[in-house]
Amino acid sequence: MTPASIALITSAAVVAPNPETLWRTPEPKRTYEVVIIGGGGHGLATAYYLARNHGLTDVAVLERGWLAGGNMARNTTIIRSNYLWDESAALYEHSLKLWEGLTAELDYDILFSQRGVLNLAHNLHDVRESVRRVSANRLNGVDAEWLTPEQVKEFCPILNTSPNVRYPIMGATLQRRGGIARHDAVAWGFARGADRLGVDLIQNCQVIDIDVQRGRVVGVQTTNGPIGAQKILLCGAGHTSVLAEMVGLRVPLQTHPLQALVSELLEPVLSCVVMSNAVHVYVSQAHKGELVMGAGIDAYNSYAQRGSFQVIEHQIAAALELFPIFSRVHVLRTWAGLVDVAPDASPIIGQTPIENLYINCGWGTGGFKATPGAGWVLAHTVATGEPHPLVVPFALERFTSGALIDEHGAGAVAH
Ligand SMILES: Cc1cc2nc3c(=O)[nH]c(=O)nc-3n(C[C@H](O)[C@H](O)[C@H](O)COP(=O)(O)OP(=O)(O)OC[C@H]3O[C@@H](n4cnc5c(N)ncnc54)[C@H](O)[C@@H]3O)c2cc1C
Repeated sequence: MTPASIALITSAAVVAPNPETLWRTPEPKRTYEVVIIGGGGHGLATAYYLARNHGLTDVAVLERGWLAGGNMARNTTIIRSNYLWDESAALYEHSLKLWEGLTAELDYDILFSQRGVLNLAHNLHDVRESVRRVSANRLNGVDAEWLTPEQVKEFCPILNTSPNVRYPIMGATLQRRGGIARHDAVAWGFARGADRLGVDLIQNCQVIDIDVQRGRVVGVQTTNGPIGAQKILLCGAGHTSVLAEMVGLRVPLQTHPLQALVSELLEPVLSCVVMSNAVHVYVSQAHKGELVMGAGIDAYNSYAQRGSFQVIEHQIAAALELFPIFSRVHVLRTWAGLVDVAPDASPIIGQTPIENLYINCGWGTGGFKATPGAGWVLAHTVATGEPHPLVVPFALERFTSGALIDEHGAGAVAH
């Protein structure tokens, strides 16, 4: 047995708690100060920071299924902060700094691994955009490097850097502090922390309507009966449009399926995260040994949590072009989540025109990396009634003011 595989077994042994024992299963109270709709990563992190940073514990998280049963435990766990614009870099870098202390903060091993994220450039446009982004990142205090094809090969030897392929690798950006974490453990850590501080986590409780009186929210109707609330936060990711419609609010979002897949378990073979917008695939290797792969969204709108085969076919073709060494690897399983995409590929965070109704959505294909950061800034916004300085540019009003934050270049396939 190699030292690496011993390390894998050891870490698996550390993180094998029974989630059933991590939090209470309380009966919902008749009313709460804050009700959070959606028990994914963002809802749970917000609940935790409401209690931890603001002493607000009269809080319930209402989840229609099970905690983290949505995108939270369906994503490919890529964490980075190398976004182009100042507003995004500040928000995601805030989150990355929280990730760096999160295992200690939650006293829970989330298997956070800063193994480096490579974004490959395959044409002149990619190169220009990437070099520009490296400069922008550095100006914002975000670690970023530009690697030549030779340096890319050195950093990730199994990548095919031959010039004789359809889209040769012309270089790459590298964020060394980027990486991955174990997504379900992140959710469990936040859930346990919130529960210990007194937050009620209510599973199998679907919100079917939101009650508004005189322009102000007063509670929700759920499959478990009515629950009063002074403040309500929407954290429904792909279902945000459905929730917003309950109060007659139209949000500029489209819901798309986003797929991912894993291979059978392999010995450690890939020690970083590799992403390519041009051939459209990204690949990392989970602690357990599976290759984790994803691509772009399915083009159509859907709430079906199911994608089409052609996306998988294209992403496998792209992966094999980059990593010929994977040609005999078997796919173990595929799945899809539902992502909420805003026109400028940036999140929408803050107050809504309905008093005491707050929104957190539009994270699209990239909200996992924001989990602690989003929770932190949302908790501030909900607790104080004033937007956290980092979320001011991400308000809903930007779609009427025109002050969009176009992150398609850094968003796109690059989760
Ligand atoms: C395949 C895939 C790969 C991805 N890869 C990455 C990645 O590598 N890096 C990255 O940063 N991001 C990634 N993402 C995006 C990321 O997962 C999401 O942006 C993020 O998880 C959204 O926040 P959340 O965790 O709170 O959402 P969710 O976990 O989806 O939480 C929303 C919750 O709301 C609940 N809900 C909805 N309606 C109701 C209702 N009426 N009543 C009660 N509850 C309700 C849902 O059941 C769900 O649990 C990926 C997503 C997918 C699908």
